[in-house]
Order: sequence, then C-alpha cells, then structure tokens
Amino acid sequence: MRPEVYEYNFDWMLWRSLESAAKTGNGSVKEFKHMLPYIPYFRGIIEPFINLGETGKTFLKLIDRYMENIVTAHEKGKKLAMTTFCFSPSILYAMDIVPITLEVLTVLGSVMWKRGTTDYMDYCVELGFTETSCSSQRGSLGAYLSGLGENIDFTVFNTAGICDTNANAFSFAKTHLNIPFYSLNYPAGLTDKESNQYHRDDFKELIKFLENQTGKKLDEDRLREILDETAKQEAIVGEMEEYQRIVPSPLPVTYNFLIYGGRFFFAGMPEYTELLQDMVKVVKENAKAGRSGMTSGKEKLRAFFFYIDHYALNLSLWRWLDKREISHIGSILSRSFKEDSPYLKGMEEVAYVIDTTNLNTMIDSIAMINSRMPMVRSIRGPYDRPNMWLEESLALAKMYKADCLVYNGTPGCRNTWSNVKLIARDLEEAGYPTHIMYGDAFDDRVESWEATAARLDEFLTVRGLL
Ligand code: SF4
Repeated sequence: MRPEVYEYNFDWMLWRSLESAAKTGNGSVKEFKHMLPYIPYFRGIIEPFINLGETGKTFLKLIDRYMENIVTAHEKGKKLAMTTFCFSPSILYAMDIVPITLEVLTVLGSVMWKRGTTDYMDYCVELGFTETSCSSQRGSLGAYLSGLGENIDFTVFNTAGICDTNANAFSFAKTHLNIPFYSLNYPAGLTDKESNQYHRDDFKELIKFLENQTGKKLDEDRLREILDETAKQEAIVGEMEEYQRIVPSPLPVTYNFLIYGGRFFFAGMPEYTELLQDMVKVVKENAKAGRSGMTSGKEKLRAFFFYIDHYALNLSLWRWLDKREISHIGSILSRSFKEDSPYLKGMEEVAYVIDTTNLNTMIDSIAMINSRMPMVRSIRGPYDRPNMWLEESLALAKMYKADCLVYNGTPGCRNTWSNVKLIARDLEEAGYPTHIMYGDAFDDRVESWEATAARLDEFLTVRGLL
C-alpha cells in the first residue's frame, strides 16, 4: 500500500470528516452558503444532503454517530463486531455490541473521497485475497487488515450458500486477524419448514456465541425494545413505499439510499426512526402538492434498479437521475419484506413477522428478519425459482410502475453475473427495457462513472425512453 495511506486511520478519518460534515447543518442557510467555497473537496457530497433540509442533516448526524460509536467502542467497554450488510445489526445492538459493517464503510469512502477506497481494496490482494472477490467488503476490509482501524474483537457473517465471495472475505479476515467468528448458514430454500427451523436453531447458536464473547446474557427487554422499534420503522418505510406508487413519485431521488443506508447503520435504533419521520413528512407534502420528489418537481421516467446502486464520488448516480427527472423506485437493498409490506401480495410466505410475545418468538423474529436481508432473501437459490430474484423483480417493477429496469453490481458478484443475461432476457420478455451496467458499484477503475453514465444515456435514447 502507498506509504501516504498509512498516515491516517481509516475509520478515524471517516469519522472526523463526517463529524465536520454533520456540523455544517447547524448553521443558517446563509452561513452554509458562505462556507461552501472553503470546503471545495467535500462540497460535492455535503451540498446534496444539506439541500435535502432536515432529512439530510439528520442523515449526516446518523452516520457521524455510527462512526463515533466505532472509534469510541473500546473506551466505552464495548466489543466491536465486523459484519456484513446482509446481516441485520439489530441483534448486535440488543447485546450492546458495536457493528462495523464493511460494505457500508466502503460506500462511505467511495462517495466521499476522490481516491475512493481502492488502496484498501488492493491491500487485500497484496495479502493474498483474490481480486475477483466482491469489492464491497475489500474497500474497508483492507484498512482493518493493515491495522488502520480499531481492533476488531470478532466477526459474524453469512455462509457461502448466499455469497461465496462475501463469506470468504470474512473468513480471510478472521484468519489474518486471528479473531473468533460465527458464520450463519443459509440453506437454498427460503420458505420450507426445514429451512425455517434451521434458521432458528442457527440463530440461537449465534446468540450463545455473542454471549460468550461479551460475557453478558441477552437482555430480553432490550431485544423487545429493538424489535418494537424495528416494527415502527418498517411501518414508516411501508407508508413511504405506498406513496412511491403514485405517479409522479413524491420521494426525493436519494430517499431509497437513505432508507437502506439508515437500516444498515441503525436498524431498530431510535436514530433511524428519527430519520424516517423526517422523510415521511417531506413525502406527504410532495404527494399533497402533486409534486415529484425531483428538484424540478417533475417526473419523466421511473427506473427500478433491480440489484444494487452505483456509489461513485458525490452520489453521481443520483445526480444523474435527478437531472434527467428519473425517479428511482427502489433496489434489492431498499425493501425489507415485513409481513404488512404492500408488495408482498401473492408472495406472503416470503415475509417475516415480528412477534415480541416471549424470548423464543423474538429470536424467531430476528432470525426471520436476517434471512430476509438483501441477497440472503432473493439470490440464495436459482434466480427463476419461486420467491427468488426474477419473481421478486417482476412483482416490484409492476407494482411501482417501472418504465425501465437497470442492473448494477460488482464484477466479483458471481451470484448475479452467473445469470444476469438470463434474467435480463426474461425481464425484456415481460415488457421491461432492461439495461446491464458493466461498472463496479464500489470501484471506479473498472469503468469510470462518465463511461457508465454515457452508456445509461445511450440506453435511454436507443430504447426511446427519454
Ligand atoms: S454484491 Fe454480490 S458479491 Fe457482493 S456481497 Fe452481494 S451477492 Fe456477494
């Protein structure tokens, strides 16, 4: 790794930048505008959030808090768990453990820093980890492997049944750092009795592991609080998603990012509820006024990103969408699949239920939530099997009135690249113009954002969409 990268700790540097960013929201609009010329490096990422008003300010504070929790965990006597975005952090919060979710930290570095997190990605490869793996873990993993972050106490992740490259990243980390680990296992089925029982038993073993690591028993009341809060949060998300069905969609274009970002950072915690409450107010006002959530208040097109988004510097994807008045109507990351979600009609068996009656029902609930996390839920088996990626994408595209569908992922994602052309063919046959992006959501070196945007423009023009 370049010697200059060793000058600053990765998580400390992210935290300090985010703390300053969050503070910019404390001043008046006039003060903020006067300050912008003094922060040329960061204005491209701070401005869009501050322009979102209270919602954007709350989101910046939320990420700031997340990073602060990481860098202060040990002095507060808490354990740090390295984990993944397809693992709900709720159980960790219930046990007073601070999560370090590798993929979300990679996204933060990618959208905030011109150099992205590529130095850290390459460092993993220098150590022997394969460069054909998913870049979403490597972007921050490299920093922790090189000692440029807080010391990790243990790691919890999901098995190769869902994503071999993801599981291998954590397995590589536990060997290199010599830390304890627990890997949840996911059978290929989602709704059969045996799979459900397997999830429950496996999750109980995970709790035993966490109790051993922390020396504390799981607190039933704390778990209930977290699950009640989760139910409240998903009810607000559900309300916004109902509004999202309206044409034009009243959701500002970045709201899907905030929905899943907030969930990955703080599922079940009041910080996320506060953010959602700010968001739903804006959505309702826009809907009442018949406005779209775009800066222009109009909507020309509705795009469904049926996999993940693209995290180039300064949220370039969302700027591109806003400029063309294209509503982002969700991705695999934004939907939660709670039983009362409107898009579950006809697929009720894939839902999870929150039941806080007793400890057993709560453990069941949290195991079910985890098995419905993005990727865990819909790409655990063949893409065209019942309840899997194709069925889910078609249902969501129809419900949210998509004009076109877009795939974006990472070249390391064998789970999707193995069948992306097949699913695109099926989606086209169902009547949806479908575009496959060839870039890397987390690594701009694979295809520059400019080239990616040019291909998106070409798709819209050639297909007569804009
Ligand atoms: S994007 Fe693909 S490769 Fe990366 S974690 Fe998800 S399933 Fe795995």
